[in-house]
Amino acid sequence: MSSEQPHRPLLGRKALITGASRGIGADIARAYAAAGADLVLTARDGSALEEPAARLAAEHGVRTVVLAADLADPDVPGRLWAEASGLMDGLDVLVNNAGLSHPETVEALETAHFDETLQVNLRAPALLAARAGAAMAESGGGAILTIASAAALRPLAEHYAYSTAKAGLVMATRTLALELGERGVRANSICPTVVLTDMGQKVWGEQPAKAAPMLARIPQSRFAQPREVSDVAVWLASDAASMVNGAEIPVDGGYL
Ligand code: NAP
Repeated sequence: MSSEQPHRPLLGRKALITGASRGIGADIARAYAAAGADLVLTARDGSALEEPAARLAAEHGVRTVVLAADLADPDVPGRLWAEASGLMDGLDVLVNNAGLSHPETVEALETAHFDETLQVNLRAPALLAARAGAAMAESGGGAILTIASAAALRPLAEHYAYSTAKAGLVMATRTLALELGERGVRANSICPTVVLTDMGQKVWGEQPAKAAPMLARIPQSRFAQPREVSDVAVWLASDAASMVNGAEIPVDGGYL
């Protein structure tokens, strides 16, 4: 074999990635396709997924399928895994990435924002992971990845609902790791600091006054790039992480 063969640690794996249309999820889709995984890509706006799905399939010779779904719909999380799995004839990796935030102070907290954040950032991924974990346990194992946040482990001002939801999701992930570990299911969380997605760039990258106090708490003195989350997400789903279970992996330049 030539030493120029690409390293494809996820060859033969089949993954569902939520929130795959932009930001971190889109970059994880890129990294997983390059690593050899077949993919079901989901977000609300299915049309935004068609072009990347076709491109990744053509560039990397993997199978990609698009499935539009709104995780705020109470019925969706319970049935999404079965639907996605049916399309792919089985799945063995879940990347629970979709999420939102409504930055606001505790005093300005809006109940509708609190409810939506808990719905999309906690209820949906926790239910989806439970259904996925149960199916993986039946079929011999798999990997569940939670894209949580450093805000799950250390409070972040103006992120009351967000931190609450992410902390709950980290504990749901640990519980899956505990209950399903002996049946071959590994469940881990990635906890990034600010990631310079398009949105991160707007909120943090282009507002030096807002960014400065945050940067001062990050020993590496910079925010993360999406690729720095994706690389960890590839590793966690691969056999290289076969004894990593129930962990929270910071991608935070030392912030935590
Ligand atoms: P983003 O650029 O805003 O992308 C969010 C993705 O989630 C999109 O694909 C969006 O697609 C999907 N989504 C949003 N609401 C949805 C819903 N109700 N149902 C289904 N899909 C939905 O976000 P990001 O910055 O990449 O963040 C991705 C994850 O990383 C989130 O869980 C976030 O909390 C976490 N995180 C981000 C940062 C950061 O600084 N960026 C830091 C730490 C952790 P549609 O709009 O088409 O549905």
